[in-house]
Amino acid sequence: MQKRDALYEGKAKILYATDDPNQVIQYFKDDATAFNAQKKGSIDDKGVMNNAISEVLFQLLEKEGIPTHFVERLNEREMLVRKLEIIPVEVVLRNVIAGSLAKRFGLPEGEALSRPVLEHYYKSDPLGDPMINEFHIRALGLARDDEMKEIEKLGFRINDILKEFFDQRGIILVDFKLEFGRHQGKILLGDEICPDTCRLWEKGSLEKLDKDRFRRDLGKVEEAYQEVCRRVCA
Ligand code: UDP
Repeated sequence: MQKRDALYEGKAKILYATDDPNQVIQYFKDDATAFNAQKKGSIDDKGVMNNAISEVLFQLLEKEGIPTHFVERLNEREMLVRKLEIIPVEVVLRNVIAGSLAKRFGLPEGEALSRPVLEHYYKSDPLGDPMINEFHIRALGLARDDEMKEIEKLGFRINDILKEFFDQRGIILVDFKLEFGRHQGKILLGDEICPDTCRLWEKGSLEKLDKDRFRRDLGKVEEAYQEVCRRVCA
């Protein structure tokens, strides 16, 4: 398998073509951004840790029957994945009130939701990923109804699997973001699952072990990622 030109550079990753039109290489950078890229920085070895954490979580999900884009981790910073036509809808799952949900409802962070909540955001950097609902998705033709039904089913199932996995490692899965895409007529989970895209709180102390340490200038950012990596990749 040969690495070819960069196809796309995002905030945290670069996608490279390969000599196989069905597969691409996902390269994990140390760059960190927040608040729609208004805040920029870097987290030492974040790319290495997110690649390792994502590998474990994609393998776990595949084992549990969730179709993902993951093929194999190639090296410290690169993962071989199936090429997706990304559906421009970010799917957020929530178990505990935090972040934008706390703000929207004027509720304190930390209260458990009585049942998981699934939300949709339109994937658009210039617009700052506005929240949308299934009617917008249908009217704008972002995805078909059957695709969204499948994505919702997968989203809740992924939440159950990951919540249990993190719980066993002393971590509360507060909320997280997923992206899906089309590959040879099938919906696959794409992107990455890591402390950039999940809120992870230590059980008991409720210490934040995720990108909120960077967003909110809480310090010990690298240490938090290392701690998640240690518990997930053990
Ligand atoms: N999230 C993400 N990318 C985004 C927006 C959110 O990975 O562009 C994740 C975020 O890390 C959190 C969850 O989705 O785990 C919910 O984020 P929220 O809506 O609370 O927004 P935020 O507070 O991050 O602005």
